[in-house]
Amino acid sequence: MVFSFDDARRAVADGASIEDVSRRFVTGMTPTERLWCLDGDTPTWAGLAFLNTDGYHRSTFQAGQIDRLGFPGIRFSDGPRGAVVGNATCFPVSMARGATWDPELEERVGHAIGQELRAIGANFTGAVCVNILRHPAWGRAQETYGEDPFHVGEMGAAFTRGLQNHVLACVKHFACNSMENARFSVDIQIDEVGLHEVYLPHFRRVIDAGVASVMSAYNSVNGEWCGQNHELLAAILRDEWGFTGFVISDFILGLRDAGPSLTAGLDIEMPFRMMRAQHLGNALDNHEASWALVDTAVERIVSTLLRFDAVLSTPPLPEVLGSPAHRQLAREVAARSVVLLRNEPVDDVATLPLTGTESVGVFGRLAATINVGDGGSSDVWDLDCKTILDGLNDSALKVTYDDGTDLLQAAEVAHNVDVAIVVVGYTYLDEGEFIGQTDRSLMQLFPPADEPDNAHRYAQEIALLPPTVKPDRLGERAKGFSIGGDRSSLRLLGNDVALINAVAATNRRTVVVIQAGSAVVVNEWIGSVPAVLQAWYGGSQAGPGLVDVLLGVVNPSARVPFTVPVDETDLPAFDRDASTFTYDRWHGWWHLKRHGTIAQFPFGFGLSYTDFEIADANVAVRGHEIVVAGTIRNIGQRDGSDVVQVYAELPSTDTPARLVGFQRVEVARGMTSAFEIVVRQDQLASRNPVSHRWDPAVGVVQLSVGRFAGSPKAITHAIELGGFAGGGEAPGVLLAEWQTEAGPVTEDSITETTKRFGL
Ligand code: BGC
Repeated sequence: MVFSFDDARRAVADGASIEDVSRRFVTGMTPTERLWCLDGDTPTWAGLAFLNTDGYHRSTFQAGQIDRLGFPGIRFSDGPRGAVVGNATCFPVSMARGATWDPELEERVGHAIGQELRAIGANFTGAVCVNILRHPAWGRAQETYGEDPFHVGEMGAAFTRGLQNHVLACVKHFACNSMENARFSVDIQIDEVGLHEVYLPHFRRVIDAGVASVMSAYNSVNGEWCGQNHELLAAILRDEWGFTGFVISDFILGLRDAGPSLTAGLDIEMPFRMMRAQHLGNALDNHEASWALVDTAVERIVSTLLRFDAVLSTPPLPEVLGSPAHRQLAREVAARSVVLLRNEPVDDVATLPLTGTESVGVFGRLAATINVGDGGSSDVWDLDCKTILDGLNDSALKVTYDDGTDLLQAAEVAHNVDVAIVVVGYTYLDEGEFIGQTDRSLMQLFPPADEPDNAHRYAQEIALLPPTVKPDRLGERAKGFSIGGDRSSLRLLGNDVALINAVAATNRRTVVVIQAGSAVVVNEWIGSVPAVLQAWYGGSQAGPGLVDVLLGVVNPSARVPFTVPVDETDLPAFDRDASTFTYDRWHGWWHLKRHGTIAQFPFGFGLSYTDFEIADANVAVRGHEIVVAGTIRNIGQRDGSDVVQVYAELPSTDTPARLVGFQRVEVARGMTSAFEIVVRQDQLASRNPVSHRWDPAVGVVQLSVGRFAGSPKAITHAIELGGFAGGGEAPGVLLAEWQTEAGPVTEDSITETTKRFGL
């Protein structure tokens, strides 16, 4: 008798263990059905042709669907800023959300995107991208949350929690995928300490938050492709971390060898019948891989779907797609992601917010462009996007727009308005996912032809797809999946700089708005304007969200989730064409600190329309935890929220300092609010490359409580830790505690801060 997937679900509901039921279910599958689960269901050539007709936005990608057993398999849709299938809500990119430093908000975004994914028929998403921003030139910087493993991990975990109320989530790209143009070929060399302390902790964090799946990266690490890397997929992910979900490959060229990929622990090759369909049978016949491993992989897929059965059994809600509530959330996130980088008064009057301003001039092509980010796998076909100009036109301000192509004219327009707003930055043409020319040698990985039966099945399936409307704005886009790639420069394009200078020459109240996925070097022009905001690719409601900040309806509270250097040479090297590249523990603010270089804007920095000071901060050890508690005072004229950040300097001076906790705190004008940040002692542990285990911190650890990395006004406590007695199980011991700077300490005022960072 057939033991169907519904029987399996019932058995679990009746109390049988998921493992036992999965095993029984897999036992009832034929060998062909088991192999069918180990790659995507889509025939390669027909699938590629479908992608070329915008199929990526029209249908989910299935893997493992078996009608005989009623097994749904997985139905995948990306992505990081919203569902890419259908006409979903486009949220601000992940980097923008990283700048909110607000996991609770990110969880709400995950909820909304998860609901929309279900509405378009997905049960699985590759939305959670947590690769470290090693260098701001990385083309896909916008898809992750920032340069710091702790911060990225917290945001990724929050997103996962939200998404997994509705779908299975997949965290990607495992691992060391922080360059784009060379992603299909580059080998990343990294030692054990760098890997575990800097490039993996955030993956582990998301796994500990219960993510269902992991996507391997395209690149290789220490000489082996990530899709078949035994060290990453077996030794670390499964054996050390105990991950029980399933692993998928990145799409199309995510593995090179069928047998080794299975042996290493990769469960599903996505999204086509490609390497495994051609070669896994032979590998099994030749004993390069075993049927036992096939069964284990299928069991992992089945058990994960059973584990999420309650979530996936809730009915999808078609009406949530692009709903007013989700657009409102997109607007809230857009506003809360805007970082106020500079805000100097002009004639003693604050430049921002625009109170008392009647007329504004808006300059630059991007002000009137729907600029939602990359055109690759994270692209969302939202039909209701609002530009910055739209947002301003909907306000009570008198608005004049000039696209900035004629500098003399722009200068003239600027002369006649109260405030000039210049919108500059990048688009999907300058940074984003990159396919480039396919390396000819890779063509041998593709099958000679599709299997006729499967091609027939697929053709029938896509013929039944509901229509998806392609937004008009994409009409003139060059054909092709993606273009941008890694940035060639961290500076603005020459036209943008010329426009800023022309406008600022005739209007002293010039506000520059930067749209970009990560850091932009600003030093050649920032001194000539009083106000600068980083507004990212702010999603479908980028315009209204930004205007909420410009008008002061929303007090800016975002913080840069990376370091903005004064000059490109302040950062470690980046070679977008490298065939091999070495990563270490020193990028971002750690690199600058190590070289004694001052940042233009330090990691975690951002201004507000009010100001705060950390009034007091105390440290106590509570078992395995260190509790950092204190109060923050709002010393300005408006209600606002600040991000309290805790950094740890470890006993070893050769170890980068770590962000170990942060908390967003709302503080009403003139009031104080309490914060409490709990640091687990294992966050202070160091990887031991000899024992391949973690050594607890022993000795003096400095904990700094401040408002950005390296803040000279941070309150610092030194605690001496005795390590974990009894083999790492017992709590650490506080041996001594003293405060190196007497509190309360007044944080830098807005003006002092901007001066300190060389503005
Ligand atoms: C990207 C992944 C993405 C996949 C499917 C690949 O090109 O690297 O991030 O999830 O496509 O959309």
